[in-house]
Amino acid sequence: MSNAHDLFLDVLKQHGYSHTKARVAVFDTFSKPGQEPLTMHELVEQTHSVDRASIYRTVALFEALGIVQRIHIGWKYKLELSDIFANHHHHLTCLDCKRMIELSEGDLEVIIKRLSHDMHFTPVSHQLEIQGYCQACQKQRRIAGAGTN
Ligand SMILES: [Zn+2]
Ligand SMILES: [Zn+2]
Repeated sequence: MSNAHDLFLDVLKQHGYSHTKARVAVFDTFSKPGQEPLTMHELVEQTHSVDRASIYRTVALFEALGIVQRIHIGWKYKLELSDIFANHHHHLTCLDCKRMIELSEGDLEVIIKRLSHDMHFTPVSHQLEIQGYCQACQKQRRIAGAGTN
């Protein structure tokens, strides 16, 4: 992940920002291996030694610089590193346990491009989030449902 870290420092430098302790700590939280998208609350909990106000300011800067992006889930959102750091991907979000699972793309990207081009449109970016119930929660719901009969 040292490449991602170098890229991060480059983006800050390009825009005239220095790599303060808070900025590096917040980036490190987002770029932990296997890190899932985070709510602000989770980000604050997982970023030690940086105060809440600095984390909020840092996230606002990161969003403005395109370092992190929001994933909208209904009227709430989570944050993750933008596509320049992590490979472009989509999520399946479980409505019960709130887990986010990375969707394996298949032909999705190709189809989006083709449909856009069919409408004489040049696509630049897109977000696609799918909400539903994960396998474990489907089982739970079946058990809970059976119990009330
Ligand atoms: Zn679930
Ligand atoms: Zn996509």
